[in-house]
Amino acid sequence: MSIGAIIVAGGKGLRAGGETPKQLQMLGHSRVFEWAVAAFEAHASISKIVVVVPHGEISNYKAILSETIDVVEGGTTRTASVRNGIDALAMTPEDTVLIHDAARPGLDAEIIDSLIAALQTADAAAPALAVVDALKRQSGTTLKSEDRSNLYRIQTPQAFRIGDISKALSDTSVSYVDDLEAVEALGLKVVLVAGQERLAKITYPGDLERMEQMIAPRAAMPRIGNGFDVHAFADGDGVTLCGVLIPHTKKLSGHSDADVAWHALTDAILGAAALGDIGDHFPPSDAQWRGVDSAIFLRHAIKITRDAGYNLASCDLTVICEAPKVGPHRLKMRERTAEITGLPLDAISVKATTTEKLGFTGRREGIAAMASAVLSPI
Ligand code: MG
Repeated sequence: MSIGAIIVAGGKGLRAGGETPKQLQMLGHSRVFEWAVAAFEAHASISKIVVVVPHGEISNYKAILSETIDVVEGGTTRTASVRNGIDALAMTPEDTVLIHDAARPGLDAEIIDSLIAALQTADAAAPALAVVDALKRQSGTTLKSEDRSNLYRIQTPQAFRIGDISKALSDTSVSYVDDLEAVEALGLKVVLVAGQERLAKITYPGDLERMEQMIAPRAAMPRIGNGFDVHAFADGDGVTLCGVLIPHTKKLSGHSDADVAWHALTDAILGAAALGDIGDHFPPSDAQWRGVDSAIFLRHAIKITRDAGYNLASCDLTVICEAPKVGPHRLKMRERTAEITGLPLDAISVKATTTEKLGFTGRREGIAAMASAVLSPI
């Protein structure tokens, strides 16, 4: 079963204020609709994404989005817009689709996961929040309390099988408040999953500022990662640390050129962006990495963290061994790290220590290295 995602950005969205439709207004480092696109893009289970845009806007949206995202024009009703999205997905009736409002930027993997899980046992699923405020019905000057049990605020994405939602939306002249309403007549089994306040829709002036406080501070925070690595000595005549060959009575054995310092730094950078570790990207079992310069790994870590929206801001490395003496090579090691990372020299620290002859480093069996990296949002 494949899972597709449709982001409906078809509305004019001018109620939120300003001349620009709300889905195109900036929220932190991205436009409102890009947040949901990014959440779907980052999710491994989503195989295809379609963005449905207002009439005449295709090229504007395509200029913003990556080529892997399909952009199609919406129709005169929301129903017609969603239909266009479903057609563009070109998936089979058994496949699943998550239909999402572009004006709900607070989408994250947790919601996507819970919707996909819910469809294991249900025909449709949506995030929902219980109504907690007292509910009153006004008639004239009197108010009457309404029972709020079993009442929910429904959010998106809403998840369906393609076959069900296609059938429900066959008459594109009918407009529904949401896609769940469209399938009501089909008598499907619907499961509600826990919604989130940050998944709220941007509708009125002030919503954007509120959402910025909920989402953007998290995106604007610096990220910190740590890395640790060990390589054993073998017969040889020098070790490579931070790309610098240091003469020694041994070499380091293991993955690539066994540059234990840059391996720890690569892991620290990947860790700060939560992008896995060096072994995920460059499996030690893969022969093509045998003996290669570890600068390859470091460059790759910096590239993919930049793609994820972060720049390396500083790093701090500690090399742990009795020998060789690292001190005389520290400046060269920092300079070489600066060349690869593009950081200024004063943002790169290289330190060395021993373990007072204790443990494997103390017994001169190998070298350990620790690294910290700070990433700042672009
Ligand atoms: Mg290593």
